[in-house]
Amino acid sequence: MTPELPPSVILVDHPLIQHKLTLMRRTKTAANEFRLLLREISMLLAYEVTRDMPLEMIEIETPLEKMMAPVVAGKKLCLVSVLRAGGGILEGMLEILPAARVGHIGLYRDPVSLAAVEYYLKMPRDIFERTALVLDPMLATGNSAAAAVQQVKAAGCQSIKFVCLIAAPEGLRVFHEAHPDVPVYCAAVDRQLNDHGYIVPGIGDAGDRIYGTK
Ligand code: URA
Repeated sequence: MTPELPPSVILVDHPLIQHKLTLMRRTKTAANEFRLLLREISMLLAYEVTRDMPLEMIEIETPLEKMMAPVVAGKKLCLVSVLRAGGGILEGMLEILPAARVGHIGLYRDPVSLAAVEYYLKMPRDIFERTALVLDPMLATGNSAAAAVQQVKAAGCQSIKFVCLIAAPEGLRVFHEAHPDVPVYCAAVDRQLNDHGYIVPGIGDAGDRIYGTK
């Protein structure tokens, strides 16, 4: 049974995403296939996350006549990858959002306290006039996600969405308490965290599975 979720959670349950996520979860899925599936899911998530982008009409000429046609208007995007696993989502998102700027936040989890510790930060200078999509495949304790969004807010950004693959109910509550104004897009909400702060059933360590480091 799905537990009560904070109102800011948007579960993207498209059948293609669910199918690809199942393939990713399997232990026997090798790093190259895992990366490819994550890239594909990220493109499908991008489709949903950008659904509310405003359009404006411009005049163009087709081979037959002039017409007014829609193009994306207004605020531009900044993709913020939480190192290192965020890179797996970043790749797919950039594929269909090639004009987006990119920021990086390096955070590691203190193995004892599970608190997020920052070791790297680089944001585009004009992030404050963009919509930021903060990317991390796993929203586990919620500590890293909340810390990453805090830095994006500190850079002056007013419009932020968090995008992940799998979230834990506990982490979603922590994140929502810290940032009730930031929607979370995810492909699945799993059962719980284990004693080491991993999401179960989950996919294991996302960074290790993307980069084959285990
Ligand atoms: N980070 C991961 O890579 N996997 C988890 O399950 C939790 C945090």
